[in-house]
Formats: sequence, structure tokens, C-alpha cells
Amino acid sequence: MSYHSWLECIRGCGRRYSIYDVIYQCEECGGLLDVEHDVEALKDRSPTEWKALFDQRTRTNEWPYGSGVWGKKEWVCPQVENQNVVSMYEGHTNCFWAERLGKEVGVPDLWVKLSGNSHTGSFKDLGMTVLISVVRQMIADGKPIRAVACASTGDTSAALAAYAAAAGIPAIVFLPRGKVSTAQLVQPIAHGAVVLSLDTDFDGCMRIVQQVTADQSIYLANSMNSLRMEGQKTVGIEIVQQFDWEVPDWIIIPAGNLGNVSALGKGLLMMRELGLIDRLPRIACAQSAHANPLYLSYLTGFQEYQPVVARKTLASAIQIGAPVSYERAVKVLRAFEGIVEQATEQELADAAARADRAGLYCCPQTGVALAVLFKLIERGEIQPEHRVIVISTAHGLKFTRFKVGYHEQTLEEVRSRYANPPLELPPDRKAVQRAIDRLIP
Ligand SMILES: *Cc1c(COP(=O)(O)O)cnc(C)c1O
Ligand SMILES: [Zn+2]
Repeated sequence: MSYHSWLECIRGCGRRYSIYDVIYQCEECGGLLDVEHDVEALKDRSPTEWKALFDQRTRTNEWPYGSGVWGKKEWVCPQVENQNVVSMYEGHTNCFWAERLGKEVGVPDLWVKLSGNSHTGSFKDLGMTVLISVVRQMIADGKPIRAVACASTGDTSAALAAYAAAAGIPAIVFLPRGKVSTAQLVQPIAHGAVVLSLDTDFDGCMRIVQQVTADQSIYLANSMNSLRMEGQKTVGIEIVQQFDWEVPDWIIIPAGNLGNVSALGKGLLMMRELGLIDRLPRIACAQSAHANPLYLSYLTGFQEYQPVVARKTLASAIQIGAPVSYERAVKVLRAFEGIVEQATEQELADAAARADRAGLYCCPQTGVALAVLFKLIERGEIQPEHRVIVISTAHGLKFTRFKVGYHEQTLEEVRSRYANPPLELPPDRKAVQRAIDRLIP
């Protein structure tokens, strides 16, 4: 079987490059590059055969196909040799039926795709396994790569550091000082990466990492690099697969640099092109009101677009003012009748806490997506009979300070409606009994 993929300019100038070229932008016109696949070759299997293959691999121990990403290797990165794959069995994350929360808000068919239930605690693992595998293949083929590097709002650097450490490749991460959670800061430290904490924001880190990686021996691992999108696009495919290949009505996704929403769209479009599905869900992109360049552009029908200076937000992983994948995301939103909505600090914090009370444990970015869900239900855009999937992007345990701050009522701009602080009582049976009787009906 000769499946094949390559890099191609997204501006339609037609230039192609090898996935093993150290290049992130078109030499001809400066456009970003997307991975493209030989779709004609992929049509050698029928939709039914692809579904059967993917289903069967969810239970296999055969390396590396048990991973949710590599189980779809032919669609993701066919040419990497299996021995060079660096995988931690990413993907196959639970799609949580948020039954109680859904009933409360009037949409009982509500599900939360827990893509942060993963090795490093965020969906970034889905993309990083592909990027690091390609780098390992390049090194095996004799390319002089000294290290991999990225700028990050926290989760990309954690994933990069873990996968690079597993592969024995040096990693350099650029973090905005004081703007990532403690867990996110300590992850690359623990994995032995060179951690550079810079007195700037994400966008400032991004500018510097681009300058540093102009030197071809340091490979850029940001989402400008479209290899990551190939792994991330499996999330949409996996969601449809989890509903026995039925397409939901809505998918809501938090968005910062706009790589993930672009990847989500890409996977679903590929499914349609290969006949596995015959309709598309609608996509709602959720931004923090403190970092909302896509939302502002959406209000003009995408006629205008201005990067913004992102303000501090509890949803620190999407505190991005100049998203790299703006053009890609707009294409996706047009194809999926997309909507963009925003959430304030108050709204995202309460939404996360409310969901936690129904058994979830949400990171603030997921809080943004849930707050947007609530708004779209209120506006009547999402209807009671719709099947809705909210993509949860990171594990709540990475954001302990956010959780503690919420319940201690110390978060800026937030009055915690669902605060549940511990009761401090003397070690006295009567006092304890009184408290229990007061609180439990
Ligand atoms: C990276 C990240 C996002 C945003 O994804 P983009 O591709 O930058 O839009 C959202 N949530 C979490 C937890 C992330 O780590
Ligand atoms: Zn070009």
C-alpha cells in the first residue's frame, strides 16, 4: 500500500514540500503549510472497510496501532516507520455523558470529550506524538537536528518535553513568566527540558522562538508546524466513532492559537471526503473575552481581522492575541456554519464549577466552552433535541490554583456562585452532627 502525505501551501500557490523538510512557511508566498494526503490512494478501502479497520484497532496490542492517533496512521502520517513512532497510547479518551448537567440546562444529549485525560494532561499529546515521531525519523535518516523547541501557554511545552524525553531528543521551551500554572511549569522541568521563562506574553515568546528556529538544526514544534494538526484531527474522527459513526449536531471547542479548531475541522472534512460521513456538525468556537481576536473578527463576518494584546485570563492556555492559525480556522468555520462566542472570567469560572458539581473536573478553558454552551442554549441556537459535544482540552488537576481560588473566593473579577469551602469545626461530635443535619436534607 503506497499511502503518501506532503506539505502544501494553504494559500493555493501549489508549492509542495516533503514532511521531512525543515520548513514552516511557503518559500514562494509565505503562506502556512498544511499536510495533504493522497486521497485517491486512500479510496482503495471503502468507508465500511475504514470504519472496520479503525474499530478493530481500538482493541489491538500491535504497535503502534492501539494508540487513538496511530490507529488511524494511514490518514495521519503514513510514511513514518513504525519503529520510529514515539507514542504513549494517546487518544481513546472518554466521552463523558454529562447527563445531570445536560438535564439542568435543557440539553440532555450533552457529552464532554475528555481529551485532557492523557499522558501529559492535555490534548496536545495527540499532535506531539506525530511531530516527535517525524523528528525521530528525520534523525534516523541523518538530518542534523540538535533539538526541538516551542513557545507555549503551558500545555504544548509539557507535551513536547515528555515526548522528546521519551525519544531522547533535547527540548527547549519558551514560557511567558508567571502566566502558566505551576503544574505546567514543572512538567518540562521534570522532563529535563531547557526551560526559558521570559518576561513577556505568549505572543512575545512566539516571536523569539521563530527567530531561534531560523537555524535549521533546532526544529520548531509550535502549531505553525502542521504535523501536530494531523494528530489533533483525530479527535473529531474519534468522537464520531464513539457514537457508532453518527455525526453530532454541535461540537464546542475552546480556542486560542486556533490550531485545534482547524484540526477538528480537517479530520471531519477528511471523513466526509472519504465517505465515512455524509453531513457535518456545526462548530462553535469559544474564546475568553480577554483574548478574543477571532470573536471580534467573527462580528464583522470575518471581513476584518486585527490581532489584539491578550489580557490576563484564568483561561491562561488560550491567552493568545495573534493566533497563528487564523486563516485555517476561518476556512473551517465557514465550512461548518461556525459560530464564535466569548465568555467572561465570571462566566467561565462559574461554568467550570457548575460542571464539577455534576461529576466533571474542568480546566478553565473547558469552562469557557461550557459558558458558551449555556449562552447558545439561552439564545435558542442549540435546541433541546440536539446532540452536543463539548471538547475538554486539559485535565482540571493541572489548574489547582484556579480551583482553590474559586472555592476560596479569591479570583479576580469572579464572585463564586458555586463556592463550596470546607467547614472549619471543633473536633466535637455535636457540632459535627448539627452541621451535617443542616447541610444534608
Ligand atoms: C492549547 C490549548 C488550547 C487551545 O488550542 P489552540 O490550538 O491554541 O486553539 C485550549 N485549551 C488548552 C488546555 C490548551 O492547552
Ligand atoms: Zn505558497
